Amino acid sequence: MPELLDRRAFLAGAAGALASGQASAATPPNVVFIYCDDLGYGDLGCYGSPLRTPNLDRMAQEGMRFTQFYSANPVCSPSRAALMTGRYPTRVGVPRVLFPKDTTGLPDSEITIAQTLKTRGYKTMCVGKWHLGHLPQYLPTNRGFDEYFGIPYSNDMTPRVLLHNTEVVEQTATLETLTPRYTEQALKFIERSKGSPFFLYMPHTYPHIPLGASARFRGKSKAGLYGDVVEEIDWSVGEVLGALKKRGLDNNTVVMFSSDNGPWYQGSAGRLRGRKGMTWEGGVREPFLARFPGRIPKGKTCGGIASTMDILPTLAQLCGAAPPKNPLDGIDIWPMLSGAKGEIEREALLYFDDVHLQCARWGRWKLHLSRYNSVAYSPAPAAGRVNFTLKQPELYDVINDQDESYDVAPENPRVVAEIRTRIDRLMATFPEPI
Ligand code: MG
Repeated sequence: MPELLDRRAFLAGAAGALASGQASAATPPNVVFIYCDDLGYGDLGCYGSPLRTPNLDRMAQEGMRFTQFYSANPVCSPSRAALMTGRYPTRVGVPRVLFPKDTTGLPDSEITIAQTLKTRGYKTMCVGKWHLGHLPQYLPTNRGFDEYFGIPYSNDMTPRVLLHNTEVVEQTATLETLTPRYTEQALKFIERSKGSPFFLYMPHTYPHIPLGASARFRGKSKAGLYGDVVEEIDWSVGEVLGALKKRGLDNNTVVMFSSDNGPWYQGSAGRLRGRKGMTWEGGVREPFLARFPGRIPKGKTCGGIASTMDILPTLAQLCGAAPPKNPLDGIDIWPMLSGAKGEIEREALLYFDDVHLQCARWGRWKLHLSRYNSVAYSPAPAAGRVNFTLKQPELYDVINDQDESYDVAPENPRVVAEIRTRIDRLMATFPEPI
């Protein structure tokens, strides 16, 4: 069973990592983070899907593929809050999905990856779905990004405006044009940013519904419009990787790919139980690929636990930037990415849905404490949908039972007690009323 590193050893490790990060930061690497919306764990060829994703499959062969990478939440806004800040979305004030009627967003007290990399002189752009507040003060251009192009929230929300920075360039964005236009924007940003380190954050609008694929891809997959959309995203990834190669930036760019939450009405979670809006593995376990020639080993699969919250501390270290002062929940996973370690000991990972703590993962074990009485998520959650505490917590061995079919709590009372202790300790650090 993993034990927590003692604090002194942890700090020494962090200092060493920072030092090596600074040493390598003479020419800080470019960073490209491609994020899908509602893409399932089982939706890529390299994760067993019949969909054709040759560019992503090649990216996996040229880099590392993770099999236990987690979103911090099974829905859009909170997942992005966690990615951008390295902290639990419940801690940063974005525990639930934001709608166009909402006037809030990611608070100014939170520091984003873009703000962090800005301190190292990075050029920064966000292309795609932001979903951390659509009023000007919350838009990417006010959160560390030099530029923004995209729909500021989900494509099923009204009005479906397309923004360039803070200006509306299209009142109702045409769905079929989005992936090619995002790609064009990304390639132009790469072109005009060469010569300076850059951070391209590319949160695609798809495969969140309503779906749209361009004429070149529509009807071409063997899996309906959903398949067409995923195959167009794969094409887009190929364009981005190709542009990096063509401009000689390939060897100094780390490219990462993942998804914000599990599949919704369509799409595959592979063999995992549950979908978007649930804290079963299918709702929160995501594909995660990382490629950095010469730094991340080729063709390796990593089974260590990692989280979107780990991206900020990992990139801060890799790019030689000081991490934000806010205490982070994520950890630097470079030891796994570099191939030095197959897994990293870490504190229990909490799974929230909205403000509700539903599960906690510790080592191979996952304890379920509460869940919703209904799977309805959208359109508007069903009236009377409530989160209820399980009379008896359920314990699953996620390594031997990845689809969470066999509750082994009765046989493992000490594991249940240990996880509960860890949860209590962690929860004491959250703001009320989490
Ligand atoms: Mg989503």
